[in-house]
Amino acid sequence: MLDEPLFESLDSATRSGLRRRLKTWYAKRARSLPWRETGEAYPIWISEIMLQQTTVTAVVPYFEKFLARFPTIHELANAEQDDVLRHWEGLGYYSRARNILKTAKVLVEESDGVFPRTVDELTALPGIGRYTAGAILSFAFDIPAPIVEANTLRLFSRMLAYEDDPRASRGQKTLWAFAEHLLPRKEVGSFNQSIMDLGSLVCTPTKPDCPNCPVQKNCQAFALGKQEQIPPKAAPPEITQVVEFSVAAQHDGQFLLRQNPEGQRWAGLWDFIRFPLEDEPLVPESVFGSGKPLAKRFLNYVEKTVFKQTGLEVQIKRFLAEQKHTVTRYQIRLQCLLASVENPGEFTESKTQHWVAPTEFDNYPLSTTGRKLARLLQKDGTQLRLL
Ligand code: SF4
Repeated sequence: MLDEPLFESLDSATRSGLRRRLKTWYAKRARSLPWRETGEAYPIWISEIMLQQTTVTAVVPYFEKFLARFPTIHELANAEQDDVLRHWEGLGYYSRARNILKTAKVLVEESDGVFPRTVDELTALPGIGRYTAGAILSFAFDIPAPIVEANTLRLFSRMLAYEDDPRASRGQKTLWAFAEHLLPRKEVGSFNQSIMDLGSLVCTPTKPDCPNCPVQKNCQAFALGKQEQIPPKAAPPEITQVVEFSVAAQHDGQFLLRQNPEGQRWAGLWDFIRFPLEDEPLVPESVFGSGKPLAKRFLNYVEKTVFKQTGLEVQIKRFLAEQKHTVTRYQIRLQCLLASVENPGEFTESKTQHWVAPTEFDNYPLSTTGRKLARLLQKDGTQLRLL
């Protein structure tokens, strides 16, 4: 086992005592979460995928809406990708939704929707990593499988006073080995849930509530007074500022929506004509803004790029809004523009690009910024007043 000395204080009797204290604490403090109610693999799997990179508070309404629309794995497997993405819209990291659909199809085809019972088989499925496999196996089937996620990573790092980066390869090996070392033989699901809740409610990123922690006497960071320094904070990513355009090109009261292709950001989602400003210095703040005229060279740039991408000759009519948002390390200032189409007869619709009336926007899964622009255009008569 890696980093053996770190584990030394936790012999079998110590671990039994720790589990007993955790069980007592969990009986009083367990979080009431909708996916814990049934104990079935399908809702547990959906919730765990949604919870990757996303908070519990943000996930709960999405989870309920998703399960209401796709109550069984069979109904999910028969769904269209657009429908699944529409129910994921706003949660971000859309590859998770595409992988959920792929996995549902595989499971229904190969095992009539029954989940496999080993980590290796589960991690062979799209979008299921070691943590999700451990959660499904232990929560749904009480199979002894360890888990390490954001909350337990912090908790274990502190219990071990592990001062290096726990996200690096050696840290991961150490924490997974520790998770396995702690695992009971029975009631594994509630044990794993209790350590996640402890990390979330007590061993918080800042100001952990050590006086009320049931594992305080097994915590080396507490003994050393280092609980605030462990784990070390990840370096913030270097932020890059970019300007992008979103063009609502209107023809006959309808707007062009395009589906983002595989391999691109937001693959599978639909959007207005969107592209970055390239080969240009950053646009000064004063160039855009409600009521301000757009500089001629930017108008030309946008009109030419729309033509290159779609074959549409457009005329930018006006600035609609600026949306500021962040995607990974990019801070984006999205300039939303309204345009008229001068050559609609030369444009052919296809499976991935349609003219869509504002009343139909809700049938398409859109990026968050696309949805905001759609809402703007849906306001009564907006498009008629603007052109
Ligand atoms: Fe976390 Fe404090 Fe408990 Fe240690 S004693 S596990 S730092 S809450």
